[in-house]
Amino acid sequence: MQKVVTLKPYALITPTASITAATHGGRAKCLQRLIRLGLPVPTTVSLSFDTVHQIAAGHLPDIGSVLNAFDPDPLLSVRPSSEDPDWGGPGAILNVGMNDARHAAMVKTHGAAAATALFLRFIQSYAVHVARLDPDMFDDLSDPTEAALRQALEDYEDETGEPFPQDPGRQLAEVLRSMARAWEGTTARLLRQAKGAPADAGLGLVVQKMALGVGGDESGSGVIQFVDPATGEAQITGRYLSQSQGRDALAKGKGAIYLTKDPRGASLEELSAPSFEKLIEYGGVCRERLREEMQIEFTIEAGELAVLDAVRVQRSSRASLAIAVKLAEDEVIPREEAVLRVPPGALNELLHPQVDRLAKRDVLARGIAASPGAAVGKIVFSAAAAQASAARGEPCILVRRETHPEDIRGMHSAAGVLTERGGQTSHAAVIARGIGTPCVVGTQGISIRHSTKRLKIDDGRSFSEGDEITLDGATGEVLAGTVPMLEPSLGDAFQKLLTWADAARDIGVRANADTPAEARMAHMFAAQGIGLCRTEHMFYEDDRLTVMREMIFADAAEDRQATLDQLLPMQRNDFVELFEIMAGKPVTIRLFDPPLHEFLPSERADMRQLAESLDLPIAEVTARVDQLSEFNPMLGMRGVRLGITIPEIYDMQARAIFEAAIEASTRGEAVVPEIMIPLVSAKREVEIVKTRIDAVAAAVRVETGTQFTYRLGVMVETPRACLRADEIAAHSAFLSFGTNDLTQMTYGLSRDDAGRFMSNYVNQGVYQEDPFHILDQDGVGELLTIAAERGRNTDSRITLSICGEHGGNIESIEFCRRAGFDYVSCSPFRVPVARLAAAHLAIQQGKAAKS
Ligand code: PEP
Ligand code: MG
Repeated sequence: MQKVVTLKPYALITPTASITAATHGGRAKCLQRLIRLGLPVPTTVSLSFDTVHQIAAGHLPDIGSVLNAFDPDPLLSVRPSSEDPDWGGPGAILNVGMNDARHAAMVKTHGAAAATALFLRFIQSYAVHVARLDPDMFDDLSDPTEAALRQALEDYEDETGEPFPQDPGRQLAEVLRSMARAWEGTTARLLRQAKGAPADAGLGLVVQKMALGVGGDESGSGVIQFVDPATGEAQITGRYLSQSQGRDALAKGKGAIYLTKDPRGASLEELSAPSFEKLIEYGGVCRERLREEMQIEFTIEAGELAVLDAVRVQRSSRASLAIAVKLAEDEVIPREEAVLRVPPGALNELLHPQVDRLAKRDVLARGIAASPGAAVGKIVFSAAAAQASAARGEPCILVRRETHPEDIRGMHSAAGVLTERGGQTSHAAVIARGIGTPCVVGTQGISIRHSTKRLKIDDGRSFSEGDEITLDGATGEVLAGTVPMLEPSLGDAFQKLLTWADAARDIGVRANADTPAEARMAHMFAAQGIGLCRTEHMFYEDDRLTVMREMIFADAAEDRQATLDQLLPMQRNDFVELFEIMAGKPVTIRLFDPPLHEFLPSERADMRQLAESLDLPIAEVTARVDQLSEFNPMLGMRGVRLGITIPEIYDMQARAIFEAAIEASTRGEAVVPEIMIPLVSAKREVEIVKTRIDAVAAAVRVETGTQFTYRLGVMVETPRACLRADEIAAHSAFLSFGTNDLTQMTYGLSRDDAGRFMSNYVNQGVYQEDPFHILDQDGVGELLTIAAERGRNTDSRITLSICGEHGGNIESIEFCRRAGFDYVSCSPFRVPVARLAAAHLAIQQGKAAKS
């Protein structure tokens, strides 16, 4: 015996019924709004989350009273109504209530074919979704004959051992029960959780009187929307199909007609102008009052239009942005709401080409998605081959075990970069993000043989130089061959939305940019300055590398000075260009950071070439290279330690910065350069470097007769610098957290090698996320908080920022806002995403404060 619960288990949807999206679901709420707007919605009853949950547990409401809400002998549809329609739910079931008697009556009123088609459709849905029979048994509805109907009823009885249920009450009860249970199943739960639903998300159900799209006069059904789902441009799309139900009109090859007049064929506008005009009117009403672009599902029953449902138009990221901006421009929604309607991550799709989501994928391997976008090209195994390929105009994918500074030019030439090793902050990942090149690192299931120029896949396949592959930098997939792409699109709407975002946000966004090309990108994306310019990348250019090597080999101070004098004008020009591009916005230049041996040759041929240019025996070159090699270079002679032991390098850089600032200021906007000292761990390091740089500034002022100011700051990237931030702040105008090295040193985890086991660690839940990708707020975050507090205790006006790769992530931006940082700095391509994310956080906080 079924237990009948007597709580108010359902509500007839009327303009005043107590229905909310949080208790009855988005569809029920939307239907109520349509009713309030006076749209012709058939009688509808809404079952709350609670009721549906009870049904799944075996407690049915009084079905008789649900049926009583309708005319006698109704035909009904049942649809899911989850809180957020995007979370989905079980498919709709139409024509509940159809049985032999109803069929016989409808044969007389609607004709045999229409009546039989309806009944067959219901039998099929019921058999598959309620009785859980094999769908193949009932998949042919194309021939609605009496014989087919008898056969379907017989098949049903054979399979279930009982006749097809005739009682509408029983039919409805079973449909409700099966939909309620389907929602509680594990697969459905995992699916909706993947779409962002909480684990305990509820399901409501709506039971609606069918508006039949079959029978006499003009009858049929269709779907209409008023924007192009790919671009968001205004455009009426959809189809109408006579003698049909549900979304049949959208099924291909069924004789559906266009909605507006169309040279390609018949249209609803011609077939039924009054219905078409009403639909246009309803579309306008929905947009204005529901404040959204809606897709309307409608039926025409003997010439009468009914609106069955309206759902948010499914849309691409590009369309979502265009629609939000247009709604705000038309004053349907406020600008801040338009900003909130575009998820920051969606901008990635607009900034880079993407693999077409509908394209077939032959996945060769998976790695860490290190830099977004997609690239197709021929495999090359060396930076030189990448440059040659670019010179031939052939897009290529640079495939390396890992990349090193000498690969940078090859990376610039490649359409994409694939590495076997590395993690989110490995060399390949950082550079690729900086230059906006799609990149996959730490790739599982491949092995690269540089000597034989082969890329081997664990499934046995093997690729040679020249073979084509595709990288999907959004998913980390490596795909065989050429896969179709969607081109990036930045338009007016993009610029407008970001301007509105800027008006709302309360934390600055700068870019990490090392080259003029990156600075231009940063400027184009409206970064508020450069937060980190890694100067060492400037020394890898061919003409400079040799001079750099000569500097490293110089024993005598005057020899070293001679080489630095050669480098000075080159650096000065670099900085003039950066200052000019940034047009007066702040530029933070980090002094030389990497270990010197990174500039030395590792191959014998390169050593011989260096020996020639230095006029030294090769043995002396190799001995010097050995002498400079370190067991732990990342913890060795690098950063400020070089600045202390070979101070002439920083002197030269400081001079280049000051002279460039003077030059750029005389030609354009005034420049106040910011100089940043890397890898500091003791206040004395700052004192020594500051004294020398102040002296260089004084000398340049005297030599040029020009006054200028500058700001000197510290890159906080060692745990000790965080702990001693109070005394370090005494000599610093700003502290910028280098969270790549800080994460490496806090965890004692190599940023270049962690990728090898990171997925294992994350899969086992040892780490929630890769800490090089998502800021570890508990550990590294605590160090940041301590440092910020101690730094501010010394100087309350000190500028605080983050410039590690974490800077562009929403979670880090949230952390930095909470900690009261002044700005975040991230790769140029992430600047728009960071601007939008920061705006979301500020707007949401403002809303929370008001409520
Ligand atoms: C850092 O360590 O966080 C940083 C930004 O510097 P780099 O990545 O150049 O070491
Ligand atoms: Mg660093």
